[in-house]
Amino acid sequence: MHIGVIGAGIVGLASAYQLLRAGHEVTVIDAARDGGLGTSFANGGQLSYGYVSPLAAPGVLSQLPSLLFSSTGPLRIKPSLDPDFWRWSLAFVKHCNTQANASSTLRLLSLGLHSREVMLEFLAQEAGTFDYRLSGKLVVYRDASKLAAAERSLEMANGLGYTQRRVDAATCVTLEPALSKVAGELVGGIHTPGEGTGDCQMLCKELMRLIGTHERGTLLFEREVTGFDVRGNTVRAIRTRAGDLPVDACVVANGLAAVPLLRAVGEPVSMYPLKGYSLTYLGAPADARPQVSVTDADNKVVYASLGEHLRVAGIADLVGYDYRIAKHRIDALRTLSTGLFPSLHGTPAPLEWTGMRPSTPHGRPVLGRADKVGNLWLNVGHGALGFTLSMGAARAIADAIDGKRPAVDLAGFARLAA
Ligand SMILES: Cc1cc2nc3c(=O)[nH]c(=O)nc-3n(C[C@H](O)[C@H](O)[C@H](O)COP(=O)(O)OP(=O)(O)OC[C@H]3O[C@@H](n4cnc5c(N)ncnc54)[C@H](O)[C@@H]3O)c2cc1C
Repeated sequence: MHIGVIGAGIVGLASAYQLLRAGHEVTVIDAARDGGLGTSFANGGQLSYGYVSPLAAPGVLSQLPSLLFSSTGPLRIKPSLDPDFWRWSLAFVKHCNTQANASSTLRLLSLGLHSREVMLEFLAQEAGTFDYRLSGKLVVYRDASKLAAAERSLEMANGLGYTQRRVDAATCVTLEPALSKVAGELVGGIHTPGEGTGDCQMLCKELMRLIGTHERGTLLFEREVTGFDVRGNTVRAIRTRAGDLPVDACVVANGLAAVPLLRAVGEPVSMYPLKGYSLTYLGAPADARPQVSVTDADNKVVYASLGEHLRVAGIADLVGYDYRIAKHRIDALRTLSTGLFPSLHGTPAPLEWTGMRPSTPHGRPVLGRADKVGNLWLNVGHGALGFTLSMGAARAIADAIDGKRPAVDLAGFARLAA
């Protein structure tokens, strides 16, 4: 089959790679001049397979007043007149309960663990590098009630055979000596030895190399997809500004920009941008490059060593499609980083970046066949976990296209209509 994949971010490229492995002819189409320049560009670098609890959680609603009126917290909401904002927010609120959170966490865990397996297989088979490390992940807490809540998903991960353990503050410092400065503030942490870190954009480049050099792989850039030529319930061609591309099937994997494309074919998906920021300290001093990947749960900031560099990422702002870097937000990230790693003071200014997480209200990506168009497949809405989940989601879609039973039940990743 000739399969068109829309989007050359981590999700589309992983999909194309898995489809090539399955024996298909694959064309990846992207609007940009190169791949990996969207949300996959400078994310937190976490391969966080076992730490997947979605943002929609019971405690979030009680924080709403502060989220609406504070401009400094890790989460911020700016109400908008955009109907998509309201639709998304109402669905989000509906999922802010214990049962919905547990159900999404369990499904994400199953996809996360499958992704880990597929990633390890990829690492064993392909020679390229993306600064991958089996770093382990340490999530540290200052608030005992948040740590207790995190323990519930720990039990789920352990129940699925994935090792996660609660550790006390002293062990946090043993695992990551850089935390000694804040040891007195910590109540403990969750340590997951099987988690990894890597540079998502480098992996995009590596996948592009593998696809571009494959005899059945093609990469097309600067081709914005504008729609589909649908006859009956079948996509015959993908419409681009530079003409139509005939296909036998199509995988939609262009993140947030899938919203208008899917709406136009009667398959609306509820997705909204959750804006975040990152800083990259190039050539960071050795004592500012943590051995284990560290997440500061209270400030919702992640720290990962990527080769010689330190990547710091965080902040979740529901402020619509605003691609500007807000100075006070990026400065807050810088202050937290230099607070934890004082040796960053006096180093060259870090690279600043902002990106939009393609977020669904319940935090689960949308995976599977479209309802009305038989040969249209969706792999979108990966939110805060696209790097982590990309390999498993791609394999599951490739299996489903081939009529095989995917390792994860795609019914748990159905479309939530907008
Ligand atoms: C601050 C921050 C930190 C993060 N940290 C992590 C992390 O540590 N771990 C993790 O797992 N995830 C993380 N994420 C989330 C992760 O980065 C995303 O989930 C992931 O990058 C989404 O990938 P994607 O391929 O769906 O989208 P994108 O990377 O945005 O790719 C979409 C592609 O589609 C193309 N496109 C758009 N419209 C069209 C069109 N009409 N026609 C053709 N092409 C089109 C774009 O040019 C782009 O290349 C983070 C996100 C942010 C913002």
